[in-house]
Amino acid sequence: MAAPRSLGRLVTAALLALLAACAREPPRPPPPVSGCFDALRAAGLRVERWEAPGTGACRVDEPVRLARSGLALDPPLETSCSLARAWLRFEPEVRAIARRELGAEPRGIVHMGSHACRRMTGNAGRASLHARALALDLAGFELADGTRVTVLEHWHDRGPRGRFLRAVAKAACRHFPMVLTPRSDRFHRDHLHLDLGPFARCDA
Ligand SMILES: [Zn+2]
Repeated sequence: MAAPRSLGRLVTAALLALLAACAREPPRPPPPVSGCFDALRAAGLRVERWEAPGTGACRVDEPVRLARSGLALDPPLETSCSLARAWLRFEPEVRAIARRELGAEPRGIVHMGSHACRRMTGNAGRASLHARALALDLAGFELADGTRVTVLEHWHDRGPRGRFLRAVAKAACRHFPMVLTPRSDRFHRDHLHLDLGPFARCDA
């Protein structure tokens, strides 16, 4: 008869421990799910939220973290849902341009981030679109063989890698109101800056 009683004590102790844990960490309600977030999920993406400022000049509406679009993102891209969705509309064109110019699709995206709580590069008076994670700094792409095509090294290249990058910038202008490139200024010699406006400029 001793065994069932000690089992009972064990179960009681386990329940008490569980209750204590629950008391320490009340379950948080899940964040509200937006149409944009749902759309990314429905597209089959493994997407999650990240802790972004919810108020102030650097707040991010609908923060999402993407570890993979159709291409690998390493490190994962922490951005806004709007930017992620714009990129996902654009990406099939990037892959098509890569097939045409390089003979194969890239494996991954080399990026310099989306969210940065700062003023605009070269214009300290205005908040950068990066402050709201409505911009992406694209440094280049990783190819299947592990080599990279980068804006810094290949933008001026007369061969396929240069043609690929310049065509990507040109195509980006159909998806992003603002596309800055090494043609823009010295701040953009190593990346393409793509953002969602409100200002429009295509430096492809
Ligand atoms: Zn930028």
